[in-house]
Amino acid sequence: MKHLFISFVIPSYNEEGNILTMMKALKDTMTPSGLRYEVLFVDDGSDDKTMDEIRGALIDYPEVEYVSFTRNFGKEAAILAGLQYAKGDAVILMDADLQHPPELIPQLIRGYEEGYDQVIAKRNRAGDSPIRSLLSRAYYWGVNKTIDVELHDGEGDFRLLSRRAVDSLLQLSEGNRFSKGLYSWIGLEQRTISYENVTRQHGETKWSFKQLLNYAVDGVVSFNTKPLRLCF
Ligand code: UDP
Ligand code: MG
Repeated sequence: MKHLFISFVIPSYNEEGNILTMMKALKDTMTPSGLRYEVLFVDDGSDDKTMDEIRGALIDYPEVEYVSFTRNFGKEAAILAGLQYAKGDAVILMDADLQHPPELIPQLIRGYEEGYDQVIAKRNRAGDSPIRSLLSRAYYWGVNKTIDVELHDGEGDFRLLSRRAVDSLLQLSEGNRFSKGLYSWIGLEQRTISYENVTRQHGETKWSFKQLLNYAVDGVVSFNTKPLRLCF
């Protein structure tokens, strides 16, 4: 197991001020483990200094790799590119804004070593606005009544995926991807770890209300034919 190689995939859109902090946090967490790792930043067409910071990190950290998009394609596209380029035996998906606590990484890796293909970090909704929490709860309730896969509130992209899980996801040729559904769709052995929600420390959320709404609709239409049947 000491030969285990971990890839971190980090979609990054206008994350100026976060890249070096994130990289340092990953190094501080990974060094004691003695495991080999790469950190793959996917710059999603940022128009601030994100790319400069990634290039700066390349100088100090040999583990850094990057993919850079010509424009903003959205987080789903960034995750897909990251999974395609990642070379690890296991991939850990994390946001660039430190809302996904690096302290959980050892637990994610332990889950993998114990044989799980997906080790999912599940957040609670501490610090979210009451309206957003309520809308989310209503959405998950409704969506789980409608679609063919099960989604869980608080479970997002922060997770470890084994090579088997990554290859399964890459085999799905969806164009407009809704990863939350795809993770559930591929199944495989899963373990969930809960954590206390962390609010963003630097910069702002990239999701407008309209984008969130579109994403919510993607969730409903991607995994069942009921809306289409209803139209008929
Ligand atoms: N992100 C991205 N492309 C986008 C929007 C977001 O790569 O078009 C990245 C962003 O840089 C961050 C992660 O996706 O690393 C989550 O975004 P954000 O923090 O804005 O979402 P929230 O935490 O508010 O759900
Ligand atoms: Mg965030």
